[in-house]
Amino acid sequence: MTSSASSVVSARNLCLTYNTNDGPVHALSNVDLDVRKGDFISFIGPSGCGKTTFLRVIADLERKTSGDITVNGMSPEDARKARAYGYVFQAAALYPWRTIEKNIALPLEIMGYAKEEQAKRIAQTLELVNLSGFEHKFPWQLSGGMQQRASIARALAFDADLLLMDEPFGALDEIVRDHLNEQLLKLWKRTNKTICFVTHSIPEAVYLSTKIVVMSPRPGRVTDVIESTLPAERPLGIRETPEFLEIAHRVREGLRAGHSYEE
Ligand code: ADP
Ligand code: MG
Repeated sequence: MTSSASSVVSARNLCLTYNTNDGPVHALSNVDLDVRKGDFISFIGPSGCGKTTFLRVIADLERKTSGDITVNGMSPEDARKARAYGYVFQAAALYPWRTIEKNIALPLEIMGYAKEEQAKRIAQTLELVNLSGFEHKFPWQLSGGMQQRASIARALAFDADLLLMDEPFGALDEIVRDHLNEQLLKLWKRTNKTICFVTHSIPEAVYLSTKIVVMSPRPGRVTDVIESTLPAERPLGIRETPEFLEIAHRVREGLRAGHSYEE
């Protein structure tokens, strides 16, 4: 498949159904999507539309029911074994009894990196997320925003090209979130990573993305894919420009058309 060869993630007719005591739950229904190298893709939609499930299929934490999916041209299982991605969870999920440095070291220890290499990578990633100097602090000594930056550093530590981020800033207040959005964009540009980012926030999705995937629940599916026309350089003020508001409008319309918020 030539299309998947150039794609970091390629999904064709991807379906995943959970079998529950209340019957089948169609979490993903016929998802077709290509994530290209260097893309910043946001997945937006209400709770239950399959955003987390899609990330978990990419990460080989769930198995598809039918259809095709490749990650770096491989099966998700092979991609996981090749450490193709870093994963940032909804809550920072740091171990409270480990310092920031030791939290970031954990996956590196498990993979058997030498101590010197660990130290080098820890220093590099802490610098990338502006946390140099905090390596000996414990998570509870940091603010929520800093904890989330530390968990991003942990996901960056083994330098995978693909970063999967599941509502990483959802629990933070808006000012902190703005600041982290700006920092994440800079980090993405500096590192040339490919990012799959789940969010509930329309402004966050529009501000960050090269491509916005609008999803809808029951069954979980993709209802629109919007290519951003915004320039690569994005000061926060861009959110007040007509171009930005137009894309936000289209996302909102997409969510409405998918009957996403009708209860
Ligand atoms: P989102 O992240 O968009 O909120 P999820 O991917 O978490 O959506 O869930 C999609 C649907 O699948 C929901 O209806 C959810 O209840 C269901 N679901 C998710 N995980 C499981 C599971 N492990 N077992 C059964 N149903 C699940
Ligand atoms: Mg979710």
